[in-house]
Amino acid sequence: MKRSYLRYTVSVVCWILLSTACSVNPTLVKEGERRKVILFVWDGLRPDSVSLQTTPNLWTLSQRGVFFRKNHSTYPTFTMMNSSSFSTGDFPGTAGFYGNTVWLGPSTRQGQNASRSAVNYNQPVFTEDWNILTSLNSYYNGQLMLVTRLLEAAQAKQLKTCIVGKSGAALLFDVTRGGYGIDENMVFPESLATELQAKGYALPKNSPVMWPGITLASNNGSPTAFGAKALLSDGVTSDPTMGKASVYYSANQYMLNVYLSYLLPFKNPDVSVIWFRDPDSTEHGYGPGSAAYLDALGKMDTMLGQLITQLHHLHMYERTNIIVVSDHGHNSVAGDVSLFPLRDIQDRAVVTTGTDSVHGYSVSGDVRLAQLLADNSIVTHVYDGLGCIMNPVMSGILADGKQVYPTQADDADGTVCGKDSMNHQYTTRSFKVPDTLEKDAVIIAANGGSDYLYLPGKDSATINKIINFLQSREEFGAIFVDDKYGDIPGTFKMSAVNLENMAGRNPDIIVSYNFDENAIVQNMKGTEYESMPVNSNRGMHGSFSPVDVHNTLVASGPDFKSRFEDDIPSGNIDVAPTISYLLGLNLPKTDGRVLYEALTHSDVTVRVVSQKNATNSAPVSGMTFYKPTAVMNSNSAVDSGKSTYTINLYTSTVEDSTGKSVTYFDYAKAVRQ
Ligand SMILES: [Zn+2]
Repeated sequence: MKRSYLRYTVSVVCWILLSTACSVNPTLVKEGERRKVILFVWDGLRPDSVSLQTTPNLWTLSQRGVFFRKNHSTYPTFTMMNSSSFSTGDFPGTAGFYGNTVWLGPSTRQGQNASRSAVNYNQPVFTEDWNILTSLNSYYNGQLMLVTRLLEAAQAKQLKTCIVGKSGAALLFDVTRGGYGIDENMVFPESLATELQAKGYALPKNSPVMWPGITLASNNGSPTAFGAKALLSDGVTSDPTMGKASVYYSANQYMLNVYLSYLLPFKNPDVSVIWFRDPDSTEHGYGPGSAAYLDALGKMDTMLGQLITQLHHLHMYERTNIIVVSDHGHNSVAGDVSLFPLRDIQDRAVVTTGTDSVHGYSVSGDVRLAQLLADNSIVTHVYDGLGCIMNPVMSGILADGKQVYPTQADDADGTVCGKDSMNHQYTTRSFKVPDTLEKDAVIIAANGGSDYLYLPGKDSATINKIINFLQSREEFGAIFVDDKYGDIPGTFKMSAVNLENMAGRNPDIIVSYNFDENAIVQNMKGTEYESMPVNSNRGMHGSFSPVDVHNTLVASGPDFKSRFEDDIPSGNIDVAPTISYLLGLNLPKTDGRVLYEALTHSDVTVRVVSQKNATNSAPVSGMTFYKPTAVMNSNSAVDSGKSTYTINLYTSTVEDSTGKSVTYFDYAKAVRQ
């Protein structure tokens, strides 16, 4: 380990000294003078975190180029969903890809993930993994996405492409691996892996899973390993007072180093996608606004500075368009703070003897929908693919100090959580999908800020019962239902937000967790409930909150205007068509548009047709609403004085002089009154 660390350190130092001792021969990059595009995704970057103080390089880049003030993430605001939108220029209904976590239906399919662990496709699967994505692509006969991808179109024009970074999110752009790539688990093609080894680079430790013929050097180590998250003394809840730095930075820096010192000068890619999991993974761990979050932002900004420096050094800067974007925003995980007061953390424990509404940390927001549906007898057979979860803090500590999901300590023999479970304590029991599924089964793919519900039996009565329950519980927000079930009051059809897929790949129900875009935790606006995770979260996205939807987009380079703030609504779906336009690719008709208003030398005019235009679902009256203060609905949890449920959906529409019109989805809010 020590040797590999030294080697990695030497490697980093080497590239820091690129302009001197380890200088790359500039003649290597003179091949062609055509435009380059680098898409640099800062996962989960909130636009309100871009500032001269926090992210000086990104701030300067936005001042030099275009800052898109009204950009939209694609709903559900998950990472992989937005990777799909970046990659294709389409909404999920068109592209047919619904990651992060999806369920394929009853399946006997078995496989492996990127670290060679077994994957059972009868359970919902988490798609941030090259091996799982490759398997899904073969399951869909090479049509994981039903449309042409940007990198596919680039490769068809003989352009060189490169993906770098976060497992799954980067690979989705080049799922068939027609270009170069390095992520946290692999390198492709195999020849690149051997070249890198020959040049003395370490490889991601799991590279031999993709290339069994590769043998890692004895001093390879694990350059993409993450550090450990600081935890409270309960051993499961993250501790933002102790964890003050990104535990993902060294992995990101290693991959950027490979890109800057080898791929960029020696492979000279025309289109590069660099996707790093910060600040998102750090926000998940410690929450937006935490000390570690600020550290992650600073490190990401330093790496952007390294990228710009190296482009200058290689004489590529003037002909490179750099697009910095986030896939989604990010919220603090928290329920209604009037029900679950914020608390101090001291000596690795939550202080429950007092509240701290100014400096306190959230102790709520996690919800296990499978358990709610089961315990309230809404459905008989419900599964989410997860085992027992121990979550004593974030599943809710009430004002009186009691837990919403009490800790159960009665599983010494493993009858509830399984024999392999070493943890005899749990707060929610196991909901693994059985090998033989009942006809009335409901499967939930828990995705954080929104959940997918699949009903293989397609029973309308069950759909209606579930919807009525979701409407009645205040931890849930907007509900979208497969068009085939018709008009259901208090919901929108999936086609209303481009989620309905003609090939039938969409879930039966997509429900956003409720949110409060104005609530403040750790000095940052925005809280949301989330589906209960196996590993503790303090930050989440995926909901239809404006804080999740409103994300960051900055573009700078020879084809973009200078010092321009774009007030015209835009979206992640516009990135691929814009890059395609700049590079002269053949990307067929996309849901997104070319961002002409931000380009130099464009005669196309763009106009805003409407902004934040509200559409309301049909209301449901005569409702009883329940607060999220107990798993079981009861009279003591009734939110009295309210009886009507509606969803407000806000959209903005833009059209241009080519005749293209795009409607963006701003947010959708459940209103109970
Ligand atoms: Zn993300």
